[in-house]
Amino acid sequence: MNQIKIFAPATVANVSCGFDVLGFALDTIGDEMCIRKSDKKGITITKIEGCNLPLEAKKNVVGAAGYALLDALDSDAGFEIEICKNIKPGSGIGSSAASAAGSVFAINKLLGAPFNKTELVRFAMEGERLACGAAIADNVSAALFGGFTLVRSYNPLDIVSLPTPSELYATVIHPQIEVKTAASRKLLKATVPLKDAIKQWGNVGGLISGLYTEDYDLISRSLHDYIAEPVRAVLIPGFDKVKRESLSAGALGCGISGSGPSIFALSKGLERAQNVANAIQKVYQNIGIDFYVYVSKINTQGVKIIS
Ligand code: ADP
Repeated sequence: MNQIKIFAPATVANVSCGFDVLGFALDTIGDEMCIRKSDKKGITITKIEGCNLPLEAKKNVVGAAGYALLDALDSDAGFEIEICKNIKPGSGIGSSAASAAGSVFAINKLLGAPFNKTELVRFAMEGERLACGAAIADNVSAALFGGFTLVRSYNPLDIVSLPTPSELYATVIHPQIEVKTAASRKLLKATVPLKDAIKQWGNVGGLISGLYTEDYDLISRSLHDYIAEPVRAVLIPGFDKVKRESLSAGALGCGISGSGPSIFALSKGLERAQNVANAIQKVYQNIGIDFYVYVSKINTQGVKIIS
């Protein structure tokens, strides 16, 4: 095998109560990448479509993640990479994570799969370090494993792949505004009142149990965030209204995707997810900010080979 084309999914991190530890992958939105072996040592980005991003490999998360893998093998291999970006950077649905995860997945495959998925997460995290200054694992884990993932620990890195209830659908609205991850992080307090922490870990346990038992009511009761959302919601115009309307349209829960500006809702069944999409679309039409809305099944496979 000398060349593969892959789909690298967009991902929703945090998932309300799972701030910085939970994520899930989307099925209908993601980047495509073409990776082929080359005689020239290292990583060469030959083309980027859809976004204005650095072609220089070391300045692109594709290169940062890919070189982390090649360095671990002390490899002389060479790869040419074409990127077709469908996920806008800074969207809050894992644009950089999709590129980083896609890069390490494809290079690993072309090298005969020397690494397992958790090891690939470690390399992809170097892409996240380049994108936002911190080697976070929640988006890249979901992109590589698919479905819902839990980052139980960083040291040692322990990624837990969780089951996906069969009728679970996501609705995502991406307002065309920029929310800087750094600004969003700054709003967070350094400490959490014990009473909020107790509610938060009760909900994380409830959500994970609900995913295992396909208990949609329990999933719904657990999709609350007492830590990040109350302080971050101010950065997203219309967030409270979007949340109210999506819940009245039948969503199980609704929250900020990553650090925003995207907002996600989870629903039981495609029809309800589409009703939620219609409801939140109306909110944004009235606000007058451009937006994209996506309805997607949860992607249970993660990065996948297209050809
Ligand atoms: P998102 O919130 O959608 O995950 P991030 O804020 O994590 O987006 O990452 C976007 C940052 O990473 C931008 O500064 C962008 O220039 C940089 N970047 C470098 N390479 C890439 C790439 N291949 N895809 C996306 N973003 C990249």
